[in-house]
Amino acid sequence: RTTLARIEQLDPQLNAFISVTDELAIEQAKAADARRAAGENGVLLGAPIGHKDLFCTQGIRTSCGSKILDNFKAPYNATVVERLAAAGTVTLGKLNMDEFAMGSANESSYYGPVKNPWDLTRVPGGSSGGSAAAIAARLLPAATGTDTGGSIRQPAALTNLTGLKPTYGRVSRWGMVAYASSLDQGGPMARTAEDCALLLSAMAGFDAKDSTSVDQPLDDYLAALSQPLAGLRIGLPKEYFSAGLDPKIADAVMASVEELKKLGATVTEISLPNMQHAIPSYYVIAPAEASSNLSRFDGVRFGYRCENPVDLTDLYKRSRAEGFGDEVKRRIMVGTYALSAGYYDAYYLKAQKIRRLIKQDFVAAFEQVDVILGPTTPNLAWKLGEKNADPVSAYLEDIYTITANLAGIPGLSMPAGFIDGLPVGVQLLAPYFQEARLLNVAHQYQ
Ligand code: GLN
Repeated sequence: RTTLARIEQLDPQLNAFISVTDELAIEQAKAADARRAAGENGVLLGAPIGHKDLFCTQGIRTSCGSKILDNFKAPYNATVVERLAAAGTVTLGKLNMDEFAMGSANESSYYGPVKNPWDLTRVPGGSSGGSAAAIAARLLPAATGTDTGGSIRQPAALTNLTGLKPTYGRVSRWGMVAYASSLDQGGPMARTAEDCALLLSAMAGFDAKDSTSVDQPLDDYLAALSQPLAGLRIGLPKEYFSAGLDPKIADAVMASVEELKKLGATVTEISLPNMQHAIPSYYVIAPAEASSNLSRFDGVRFGYRCENPVDLTDLYKRSRAEGFGDEVKRRIMVGTYALSAGYYDAYYLKAQKIRRLIKQDFVAAFEQVDVILGPTTPNLAWKLGEKNADPVSAYLEDIYTITANLAGIPGLSMPAGFIDGLPVGVQLLAPYFQEARLLNVAHQYQ
């Protein structure tokens, strides 16, 4: 009840919540109390959390930040929601996000922009901006997010949090509204690596309901935290420290490297030569998959339907025209174009080939180093509205994060101090299924 009161008092300034689920929260809190009274003592028992509003929650609105799903109540829970509930967490609400997770500023939400708690005139990052703002403002200790091209790591960086995008296939996508299915991955956001480890332990693992879920045992993420870093080989990709990076962020990142050296890490320069092609290939692949995934929103089966359609075509056209926002329409158009006969080979197929090259760059790099370190974002949190007129300038903010999604490797952003009052994030990348290593390094650093 204290947390609910705090949300009621502070969220109007932030707009981090799309729905506050007070009834569910009280019910789950009572159930957690009962389990504790019966002798259970799990750390997550009774822990308040929130879910990004693209995780389906039974009987509760799952809007995906869109008008087209404003009236949608899922008939079932996402696997992530089920697993966290089974661990005893208490769900306080559904968190704001860019519409269909398309964005880096949380400004494309039908429910309005989210403010960065460190400076209310600035963006919190996106698309998991509601999750980030709620945790940074201490409305919640932890939340779920999803990351298709950086949407956990980038808002974590811009709000002084730790955010982990697991290996593709580590966390079930069942019940997550799809944006780009071959890139989407759910993960934890919290203040510390330890809290992320707690959440990941509950969220991750094989799920027969997700055909891309990987059946591989989980590491003990909590036990891994305390491992010493002596001998850790860190790679600094030279492409991460080139033009476009705010020099103050570069300094902050290098200061974190010095700290890690004191803990026994060694540092070498590496190269990821195909990184320059990452943004163009991501912004073909992600919209292509989105254009296909979003074809299910047709005004017939669920979601928004236009008034008085004259025939079926009119129903489709107007439901989609009225239900989707501008950025979503832009992506559907780009994706449909890239997949059309005559353009498929030139754009989509070419982008897939580049994707393979980017993956190979990482595989080669991880023969020399244990983790790759660099900035999470090229710039600090920008002013609300600043990049709205120029979508490409916003797409460029994803330069350091999207390669992990294209390759499928895990990535984490950890807090690395402040510049002019604004948080800076450092990104760590590791080989497939080495989430434990990322959490370990972040925990030792923190
Ligand atoms: N900013 C990227 C995009 O708009 C990534 C978003 C995400 O990870 N969901 O596609």
